[in-house]
Amino acid sequence: MNLKNEKGVANSFFSNLLPFKDQKSANAVRHQLSDLSRKIDAVVQPVYVSKKFKGHFKPKEHKPPIVNQQNVVYYYKCGLCDTDYVGFTSRHLHQRVEEHKRSTIGYHVKDEHGGDPDSIGSNFEILKKCQNKLDCLIFEMLFIRKLKPKLNKQSDSIRAKLFT
Ligand SMILES: [Zn+2]
Repeated sequence: MNLKNEKGVANSFFSNLLPFKDQKSANAVRHQLSDLSRKIDAVVQPVYVSKKFKGHFKPKEHKPPIVNQQNVVYYYKCGLCDTDYVGFTSRHLHQRVEEHKRSTIGYHVKDEHGGDPDSIGSNFEILKKCQNKLDCLIFEMLFIRKLKPKLNKQSDSIRAKLFT
């Protein structure tokens, strides 16, 4: 593709169909495209369409099952006594539940009640769905402070988690 005419003047126009979000991002795109224009010595210009266009990209909303949630602060309550635990995971909750079968919670069920650690899964609930890990840490701390769960130790504190 020859981008230049005889005089070396850029004469090719590329139009890009982009969803219009706001003026700030529009300017950013414009800036990037003008960089690109210089590089390939052609004129690249964005063509914006209405905000309605954005709607086409919106993913269908669906709620994943509880165990497939990520970035959540969760609560465990023993089914046989008032022992409880607050934690968070940035992974899928079911992975964390698996680990708990072989840690504090699983030991509690086995040692205190002679129960099966594999049965703990149904005693978890989500206290808060978070946007990111920092959110999780903050809400975990707030819930631990509020609920004072019996199985939480000092090592579960926000400070311990931030520095590991
Ligand atoms: Zn118990």
